[in-house]
Amino acid sequence: MELRLKREELLRRQNLIGGEWIDAVTGSRYAVTNPATGSVLADVANSGQADARAATDAANYAAKEWKERLPRERAGILRRWHTLILENAEDLATLISLEQGKPMSESRGEVAYGASYVAWFADEATRIYGDIIPQGQRGKQMRAIKEPIGIVAAITPWNFPLAMIARKIAPALAAGCTVVSKPAEDTPLTALALAMLANDAGVPPGVLNMLSASRDQGIEAVGDWLGDARVQKVTFTGSTAVGKYLARESAGTLKKLSLELGGNAPFIVFEDADLEAAVAGLMAAKFRNGGQTCVCPNRIYVQASVYQKFAELLAARVSALKVAPASDPLSQIGPLINAKAMEKVARHVDDARRKGASTLVGGMHLVDLGANYYAPTVLTDVTNDMLVTCEETFGPVAPLYRFETEEEVIALANDTPFGLAAYFYTQDMRRADRVSRRLEAGVVGLNEGAVASEAAPFGGIKESGYGREGSKYGLDDYLTIKYICQGSLD
Ligand code: NAP
Repeated sequence: MELRLKREELLRRQNLIGGEWIDAVTGSRYAVTNPATGSVLADVANSGQADARAATDAANYAAKEWKERLPRERAGILRRWHTLILENAEDLATLISLEQGKPMSESRGEVAYGASYVAWFADEATRIYGDIIPQGQRGKQMRAIKEPIGIVAAITPWNFPLAMIARKIAPALAAGCTVVSKPAEDTPLTALALAMLANDAGVPPGVLNMLSASRDQGIEAVGDWLGDARVQKVTFTGSTAVGKYLARESAGTLKKLSLELGGNAPFIVFEDADLEAAVAGLMAAKFRNGGQTCVCPNRIYVQASVYQKFAELLAARVSALKVAPASDPLSQIGPLINAKAMEKVARHVDDARRKGASTLVGGMHLVDLGANYYAPTVLTDVTNDMLVTCEETFGPVAPLYRFETEEEVIALANDTPFGLAAYFYTQDMRRADRVSRRLEAGVVGLNEGAVASEAAPFGGIKESGYGREGSKYGLDDYLTIKYICQGSLD
């Protein structure tokens, strides 16, 4: 697959700071590669502390004017941005597939999904209500109004290079905040293209600042934001370890944080489930993006009486998956993101096998396709002492566990420090209600594998983080409440 865009200028190699496209202060650059082939796609600015500081200066300068814009004006700009994203969907999908590796069909889906957040928050911008508070003192009026929190630092991972950024920038801009942002080292091209379209849509200079950085330099750049009291909020999607680090480092200036972190999702199939529907739900949730999603089922618990049947149905579907580069229109699973991801998936599968699991499907590196291709895999007879149970595998591996009772499986499902997504399949209405309430997760899929939507509150509990993205609740993370007490009214 070649880097050929209909609109060539969407390939940006510089940072967007204060409305200008500029190189890193040091002039340093790094190469972005295609995980399918290892070939270099482009080189981009390798930003550090000085660039991060310049971005904050620009965001600070732009803040007052943006905050004072009428909500309808901000909404109008977001709507134009939404239109431009859709008009350039094919180019954006190409960039996603090239730098991240997912099949084009999924990249197109990601563009539509990311854009839906921009449209949603364009509407929400005009619905930031306050309250006049009923109270008991004559001659006073008490009001609560909502104000933008200030400068927001948005830091995002590589697995959804467009959607994760759109999900943060759209509510921040809608609320009246200005933004400094750094995408993942592996996937800056989509983020920079998205920033260009925001610029074209009329987002004023300095309101959105986007800089790319290699891993080491990125830590330095983000570090500058964490220590800068002008940055009032950090919104982060990524691993739990990095989320904890950001929380610690933000403590010095008491920033507000939204942390969308790692998961270890259980997927439970009860014996009264529609097994065909459960398999279809699992395929959608588990193998999207090659298993590299935070809501990906990581532990699949199947009740003993239907275990064999479910494993057979699943094996048939998984064996039929087409693994190929994104350039192949029939591709359903692309490469993993990099060598580190390959090593983790292989380590998990090897550990499970060593401890007694059997490989029903897959279980190997697809060497002929390239360095980063791992076969979609189904493991059976998996037990709780295996690495796949306690760590997020983040790859196309479906480990099946056998369970006997509802009580037992709820305890197993909740026996993790994480609490992002959980899924279960049953046709018993009373069980549906009971289990929904007892699962410790921020998001529950009940007879459903595709849970994400711009209209729904997305986020975790426990060590999967805090804060919610999307929905009518999603703006709250970017707003503060000001209480105004007015006296001498009688
Ligand atoms: P990651 O290593 O935590 O990286 C996420 C972002 O943080 C990247 O931009 C990364 O830059 C940056 N970063 C890493 N270390 C940093 C540090 N010390 N200081 C400042 N920035 C730092 O996560 P990932 O491997 O990219 O993404 C996979 C993880 O994200 C999984 O755990 C997955 O579950 C989680 N995730 C969660 C959600 C959710 O909504 N809850 C959604 C998607 C993914 P570099 O790329 O340069 O390292």
